[in-house]
Parts: sequence; structure tokens; C-alpha cells
Amino acid sequence: MTTVKIHGGIDILRLPVNEEEHLFPPWHLKYTQSHILHSKCSRSENACGDNDADSCQFCVFNRTLDLPHMPDMVFPNNILTLKYEDKAIIEFNALDALKRVSNGKINLQLACAEAWKESRSESSEYLEEKVKPFDWTFTTDYMGTMKGFDVVETSEKIDVNKLKQKEKILFYHDLTLFEDELHDNGIAVCSVKIRVMPSSFFVLLRYFLRVDNVMLKINDTRLFYEFGQDYLLREFTSREDKVANLRVSPVIFTEPNEIAQYLPITKSKCHKLTISEKSNVKPENLATQIESTSTLGTVSSTTTTSTTNSVSM
Ligand SMILES: [Zn+2]
Repeated sequence: MTTVKIHGGIDILRLPVNEEEHLFPPWHLKYTQSHILHSKCSRSENACGDNDADSCQFCVFNRTLDLPHMPDMVFPNNILTLKYEDKAIIEFNALDALKRVSNGKINLQLACAEAWKESRSESSEYLEEKVKPFDWTFTTDYMGTMKGFDVVETSEKIDVNKLKQKEKILFYHDLTLFEDELHDNGIAVCSVKIRVMPSSFFVLLRYFLRVDNVMLKINDTRLFYEFGQDYLLREFTSREDKVANLRVSPVIFTEPNEIAQYLPITKSKCHKLTISEKSNVKPENLATQIESTSTLGTVSSTTTTSTTNSVSM
């Protein structure tokens, strides 16, 4: 296995980007990591033009997402990319994760927001902001951005025992995609972790939400690949509960890995991602070819009540 390490690349704002690439044939794994998104346009007073081909990152995010406000911290350069030869690619990035945040639609989160609003009525500034139909928790069901896979629902599950085997860890990294402290009333954080072993690799993309004294929610996407196979398994689970229903020490409310097992699963589905025979992903066109395929709505969900498949990294 060959390892290529590159450190100290330069981004458009000439601030350092940390990069690392690893070859685990047939996979090429890469991450980039850098500073948070600026809070205003970095090019001009009046923001970049809509058709400006080289818009700054702030303007690209602002225009694409059209959210009333961004999370406190967005990491536009924190990107994990997994490429299978020139055939298929999976990427995890903040922009696509935030595209899945509900905007302009009333959703279940807002029902919860009502209860919260009542308990926080002293905060008029916050109240005003919250009456907009916008998911201020930035809840996302993002499962990654991919191209070159045939995706079918499956009853096959990730073999947890294989993940528990003691194996050498060849590569590990975690990246935060975005984080918000909900005006000091909790946390919403979306992150991705990867672990590569001699026989397999495992990715956990996690959205974790804690609204203090109100509720907790975890959306997990797990990807598992065994070397020698031409497919990956992907499991998505959504767990949540109200704080009032939880009979555990609040100390673990800040520990997603700990609290996950106590949160009932509200949605669960497994997919087999097979490298598409037709696919040929040209590296130079990746940025424009990648489409967000994290549509959950059309696939019927296999809901389970098991709480045993919470594998932490
Ligand atoms: Zn700009």
C-alpha cells in the first residue's frame, strides 16, 4: 500500500489547507481540512455577483443554501473523498450536508421549537428569529455525495462483529463539517470519521443535536467496505428522544457515543452500493459530475426498534 502525504496546500484565501492522501487499492482516500467559512464576502462590499464564476466561498454557500443564517462554524474545506479507481466516488462535504437542511418548510423540529420557545420567552431576539419557517437546528439527513454507484435497498447489515475485531488501524481521521451552539442552548454538529483496517474500512457520518432540557437526536450514516468486494454497505439510522423520557445521567447528554444507545431508532434503512459497471468517473470532471444522491424520501424505510447496532468509531 502506497502512502502519499501532502501538507500545506494553499486555498483561494491563501490560508493553509491540510491535505492527506492514501492509496488502499482499489481505493484512493483523501481529505482536506482548513479554516471556517468567513462571515461575510471576502471579495467585495456588495458580495460577489450571482454569475461570478470565481465567487468567494461565503457567497457560494449563501447563494446555494439561502438559509436565514449559517451555523456558527462551517468548514467548507473539510472534505473527505473516497474514490474507487476511476469508477466511483463518495464525498462528504459541508455544503451538501447543509443543502439537506429544511428551509421554508414547517417540519417536526418546529413543533419542538414551540416548546422551547415557551421556555425561553425572555430571549426576544431569538424568538423573532425562530418564527421564520427555518430549521434552526440544521438537522440534516445527508448520507454523502456520490457518483458511480448502483444503490439498492438491502436487508444485509453491516457486520458489527467484524468491526469489533482487533485489527491494526492503517488510517484514521475525523472532520467537522459544521457546528452550531444554538445560541448557547445546546449543540448541532455534523462530522465524519474514517477508519481503515487491513481487511476493511468504515466511515461514520454523524449529525448530533442536543437542545438543552428538550431533546436529543442523532442521524448516523455508516459505510462499510471489505477489500475484495465490489460493493459497500450503507446504513442510515435516525434516533431521537425527549429529555423528559430519558432515564440516564444528563452527564452523557454531551457524549454522542454514550447517549446513542438510549435513543430509540425512529428511522433505519440499509443500502448496497455497488460499483456501477457503466460508470467511468473522469477525475477532471468530478466537481461538476457529483450529484447529491442523499434522497431518502422515495425509499421505503425498514424501521426497527433494535438499539444494539450503535458502533462507535
Ligand atoms: Zn463573495
